[in-house]
Amino acid sequence: MPRRIVIIGAHAAAVDAASAARKTDRTAEIILLTMEKHAGYSRCGIPFVIGGHISNFTDLIVYSPSYYQMMKLDLRRETTATNVDTKAKTVETIDKTGKTETLQYDSLIFATGAGTFTPPIKGKEKPGPFSVRTIEDGEQIDDAIRKGAKTAIVMGGSLIGLEMAIGLAERGLKTTVVEMMPQLLPVMLDADMAKSVQEMLEAKGIRILVSKGVEELVGADKVTEIVAGGEHLAADIFISAFGVRPNTELAQKAGVVLGDTRAIKTSPRMETNIPGLFAIGDCAESVHMVTQRPALQQLGTVAVKHGKVAGTNAAGGYAIFPGVLGSACTKFFEMEIGSTGLTESYAKRVGMNVVTGTISGKTRAQYFPGAQPIKVRVIVEKEMQRIIGAQLVGNEDVTQRVNALSLAIQKQMTARELSKSDTCYAPPLCETWELMALAAEAAVMKLR
Ligand SMILES: Cc1cc2nc3c(=O)[nH]c(=O)nc-3n(C[C@H](O)[C@H](O)[C@H](O)COP(=O)(O)OP(=O)(O)OC[C@H]3O[C@@H](n4cnc5c(N)ncnc54)[C@H](O)[C@@H]3O)c2cc1C
Repeated sequence: MPRRIVIIGAHAAAVDAASAARKTDRTAEIILLTMEKHAGYSRCGIPFVIGGHISNFTDLIVYSPSYYQMMKLDLRRETTATNVDTKAKTVETIDKTGKTETLQYDSLIFATGAGTFTPPIKGKEKPGPFSVRTIEDGEQIDDAIRKGAKTAIVMGGSLIGLEMAIGLAERGLKTTVVEMMPQLLPVMLDADMAKSVQEMLEAKGIRILVSKGVEELVGADKVTEIVAGGEHLAADIFISAFGVRPNTELAQKAGVVLGDTRAIKTSPRMETNIPGLFAIGDCAESVHMVTQRPALQQLGTVAVKHGKVAGTNAAGGYAIFPGVLGSACTKFFEMEIGSTGLTESYAKRVGMNVVTGTISGKTRAQYFPGAQPIKVRVIVEKEMQRIIGAQLVGNEDVTQRVNALSLAIQKQMTARELSKSDTCYAPPLCETWELMALAAEAAVMKLR
């Protein structure tokens, strides 16, 4: 009998898990279940369809039906897993026609993702605010714009909220962002780096209100205004970007244990407390490479890496997930923003003693036409003098520096080593002194 692997989910984590499982076991029967109409698409692209950079939502579908055929994957759309019996090793499902089925499994992977979340504020049950998670959410927002919406309020100033605010502004909507924290992008950036992002967005015409928590959603049939920091703010459309929570109910019901982050606790093999049951992606916890504490990084990059590890293990192979650093990047208009590891404020919150080094420079030789501004900051732990975090804001060349600094953190490089690293130079491409090395040198000066 071939091994049967059932995967609950059919997006970033799940499809990579299925592909890795197939490469490990050519004969396994692999079933993917998704509640959604579409499978294997990029949620990350939704704000860019709204902004008009990508023509259609269906362009976001990364895996066409032929991929599942080629890989011999049994994809079941609009099919919900309703129960898992870990003793009998079965998953109960129901499809859109109401047909139920009980699937036997040898290995089971929870790739159930996360769902959007609204904090307990007055009026939260009122309809109106749009979530940004699925293609259908994107289509509804697009429809509201086509029907004449002229103003928008985005509730939440993190990565998704700001990408959406820009998309809406690009479509001509007068857009306001309301953020509870005193700065934008609090997970990615320290306050001074976030300030330059805020100033750029304001210069582009987006109104930013920080230190203003949403207190109430107001409206008769649907939300027509919000109260934030005591101020009444009206708009034609509202975007709910408060954050997401891992989908863990089904796993919990089956006896799977959650970790400190309230996501599913996993071993380095991405296995849960129940042997043969794995958890990956936005519903699964990992270990942070710097703090060595449980961490929940709900990123597409993490999801696919989790998937590869769990898929290999579920199919009888052996793979280990090394942990997360939360490396992330984005582009707001012309500005690129990236970060990896810990921010200074987070490191201090968890009791670490740190210094920082920050350098502003140009992306090419000063005299070379088109040289763009860029700011690099490194965060260094004082005792071991290791790099533990980095942030970049600039108009080009941010992404690969984030990746290089992520590697420096993973290899436990000290600030001194980074400051003396061997780098390249050519006038149209970069400065003679690499900015990452200069930022590290600035930190070394403070360590003396
Ligand atoms: C607007 C937006 C922009 C983003 N931008 C970025 C970015 O730039 N970079 C980045 O790294 N990450 C980004 N992300 C995050 C990234 O999209 C997620 O980390 C990724 O989608 C997680 O993948 P996943 O497979 O774990 O979960 P999900 O994508 O949430 O998929 C979960 C799957 O589980 C299925 N499911 C759940 N419960 C059941 C059930 N009971 N039965 C059957 N099926 C079930 C769902 O139908 C779905 O198929 C963005 C996210 C959004 C929303």
